[in-house]
Amino acid sequence: MDNPSSAEAEVVALIWSQHPCDRRHRKEAAFIKCAIPKLEWVDGEGPYACIAWCRVPTATLWATYSEALRAKRDIDYRACGGKCLRKHQIVRIVLG
Ligand SMILES: [Zn+2]
Ligand SMILES: [Zn+2]
Repeated sequence: MDNPSSAEAEVVALIWSQHPCDRRHRKEAAFIKCAIPKLEWVDGEGPYACIAWCRVPTATLWATYSEALRAKRDIDYRACGGKCLRKHQIVRIVLG
């Protein structure tokens, strides 16, 4: 599996079930903060993460894929922040 923190991560939905860490995260927010050490903030709850890799990585969590997709389309359209590079991605988090 590619390093999920890579800025070259493809803009597709993919599954993250592990990262280099011995802990078992019980919350997706804890998982994603650990998987992306540079993550500026994470908001929401749920297994679908809409991640913006622009400037500083940020993420929102959603209960369903369609909600995450809506969030992605929203920032695709409006831009996610000051220096949006349109590097937005949905991943599904599967806790171990
Ligand atoms: Zn971890
Ligand atoms: Zn962006």
